[in-house]
Amino acid sequence: MRLTVSEKSISLRTPICSFDAMNGILCPQCESKLDSGQLTKADVDASIKLVQLSQKIQQIEKFTLNSCQESNGDYVLYLNSADIMTIRQSRELYRILQGEFVGKIWLVEERCNDKKFIEDMFFPIKILTVSQLWALGGVRKTKVIISGRKTPKFPIDVDKVIVISKHLRRIELVVEFERK
Ligand SMILES: [Zn+2]
Repeated sequence: MRLTVSEKSISLRTPICSFDAMNGILCPQCESKLDSGQLTKADVDASIKLVQLSQKIQQIEKFTLNSCQESNGDYVLYLNSADIMTIRQSRELYRILQGEFVGKIWLVEERCNDKKFIEDMFFPIKILTVSQLWALGGVRKTKVIISGRKTPKFPIDVDKVIVISKHLRRIELVVEFERK
């Protein structure tokens, strides 16, 4: 995919007003949403970064950033599924987007269920099954079985996925591999 340069006005949608994202300053309305917790600092930061990128990269202009959540220095960006597909089809676009953030970025589809959240977190790794299990004390855990076995080149930091899933979605993950 070729990355094209554009100088049009903003059509990217973000949780803050595009004017705010463009100028890096919040209007009173967005400011009060931030104060009330309706918006987070991660939402604001990610909106500004994406709007700046969208000025240079046409593909990003069409994106809808629904929200951004921070977890221990990493960022989960909630985008529309078409946007995620676009990014996954271009290593270059992914690299540019990741380059804007200090921590690792994770791309998750907006309003997805837990299973989809887990699948997005593990992308491009194939998950065989996601199932619920009850541990002692009535704690609900979510067991994930990953296809194949864990190789030294395994691209996903499983421990991070476990921490982020618990922090952001209260999912207690148990991750196993199909083969030892
Ligand atoms: Zn605003």
